[in-house]
Amino acid sequence: MKCALVTGGSRGIGRAICIKLAAMGYYVLVNYKSNEPEAAATLEFIKKDAGDGELLQFDVSSKDQVVQKLGNWIEANEEKYIEVLVNNAGIRDDTLMVWMQDEQWEQVIKTNLDSFFYVTRQVLKSMIFKKYGRIINVVSQSGLKGLPGQTNYSAAKAGVIGATRSLAQEVGRLGITVNAVAPGFIKTEMTQDLDETALQKLIPVRRFGLPEEVAYAVAFLASPEAAYITAEVLSINGGL
Ligand code: NAP
Repeated sequence: MKCALVTGGSRGIGRAICIKLAAMGYYVLVNYKSNEPEAAATLEFIKKDAGDGELLQFDVSSKDQVVQKLGNWIEANEEKYIEVLVNNAGIRDDTLMVWMQDEQWEQVIKTNLDSFFYVTRQVLKSMIFKKYGRIINVVSQSGLKGLPGQTNYSAAKAGVIGATRSLAQEVGRLGITVNAVAPGFIKTEMTQDLDETALQKLIPVRRFGLPEEVAYAVAFLASPEAAYITAEVLSINGGL
């Protein structure tokens, strides 16, 4: 059975990606950290559309949890092979660098960057064995251009962009593509505290994007037909 693992699938962009990949026929593993009711709601949406999947709770920033929970799932489900991995889970914790606490730096780097290594490492071996895989990392415009107040977040996302390009070169000959999508401002809980009216004046299309618009691009990169696109970063930002 062909599976897709989406980290942070309980809300926002991750939920839209789960629904889209399920509609493509994937059995979707909906990962979340703590919000089980929202993760269950994602699974409900999938099942309402005649799709299927299951919840898989683990904290992507914890090496031990990823090894134990994801590793155990892989061992116990040999007939289910994860051929699409979407590293989507992420947090921001903005403040000017002069005020930034160790905890703010470490948590943002662990959740957005270290998670890429922990999670991808777990699924990469079976992709190599099967000589097929699609890895899509959700980064950010902030990782490409930087934003004041986001030295931690920009560093983490820029790190994932570098890792995307390196890994793509390591596994390209094995039928595995590795790409990133870089959203601008997307309407989710993560952007709830931003001044949308002021910010949309800076965006050529004059609005925030929708999670479904990011999911559409992820689904494109996840498709078998996107086999010749790798090491790319696709911006989804209304021309920002
Ligand atoms: P969101 O609405 O805040 O949702 C975050 C998701 O990540 C939730 O499902 C959450 O799970 C999960 N998560 C957070 N920490 C986790 C951890 N340690 N382990 C496992 N799951 C964890 O965020 P979003 O706006 O959809 O963002 C999704 C991705 O897009 C992030 O990587 C973000 O950096 C990126 N992005 C977003 C925007 C934007 O404008 N929204 C722009 C650029 C990039 P729980 O529900 O269990 O907490």
